Amino acid sequence: MYKQLTIMSGKGGTGKTTLTASFCRLAQGRIVIVDADVDAANLHILLEHKIEKSEEFIGGAIAYIDPEQCTGCGECFQRCQFDAIRALNGKYIVSERECEGCGVCELVCPVDAVTVKKESVGKLFHSITPYGRFFHAQLYPGGESSGQVVTLLRERAEDAAVAEHKELILIDGPPGIGCAAVASLTGVTKVLVVAEPTVSGWHDMLRAISLADFFRVGICVCVNRADINPELTSQIEQFCRENQYQFLGTIPQDDSVIKAQLKAQSVLDVYPDSPASRAIENIFNAVIQEL
Ligand code: SF4
Ligand code: SF4
Repeated sequence: MYKQLTIMSGKGGTGKTTLTASFCRLAQGRIVIVDADVDAANLHILLEHKIEKSEEFIGGAIAYIDPEQCTGCGECFQRCQFDAIRALNGKYIVSERECEGCGVCELVCPVDAVTVKKESVGKLFHSITPYGRFFHAQLYPGGESSGQVVTLLRERAEDAAVAEHKELILIDGPPGIGCAAVASLTGVTKVLVVAEPTVSGWHDMLRAISLADFFRVGICVCVNRADINPELTSQIEQFCRENQYQFLGTIPQDDSVIKAQLKAQSVLDVYPDSPASRAIENIFNAVIQEL
């Protein structure tokens, strides 16, 4: 049976995706990979991959009012429970942002001016990489339903892990604590929180940990660019020890990470003997022990 590891952070820019790409190399052949950061997907930039298949993702339903047919009676406006309908120049329009697709307006409209439509909000990709199968997505501008997209990507990855007898599903989680973050950590074996030793990084780490705690997922922590603030790094380590979160180590500030990113590769691909690569390898070995 496969295990699942989600790498997450309270915000973007902590080096989460760099770490995931390096882990892919270290776990080569044993993994299925998911980019769950669907609102700002970028793992595909660091992973050599070939798209084998794509599928449209049909999101939630949204109502549309035909202005030619609308008589402006206001019945739909009165009955919408989500305040999604607005008056405009004697007619009515739907705010896509608020519409929940319940269909009440379509039912009550006396002149059939309303249609509730389901629309494609993005594409799911099934790719192959030198490390394992890779499931990722691209949401169209304004595309909602990121939590549902992550759930679907994870289902595809789970099917692939079973079919190919893989040991691990490696999930590059989204930053923050929104729907996509929730969908990327429910039911996983462990979460690895990548923290940054700054004041905002400290608070972001606490938010990510609270979310994982709420869903009762085992938590490991590492600190990226640890040497930019050794005092705060020590504080994070102590906090983990006191609260029984596994502190797996630190990654130093290292120019080789940026140089590798400029070549669209992970630091382990280009500079395997760099200080950052050695630290990432140690953290990888530690997290595998924890799974
Ligand atoms: S119920 Fe139909 S006709 Fe009346 S305002 Fe709404 S869309 Fe227009
Ligand atoms: S589908 Fe439901 S939520 Fe959307 S506008 Fe119509 S009544 Fe409001």
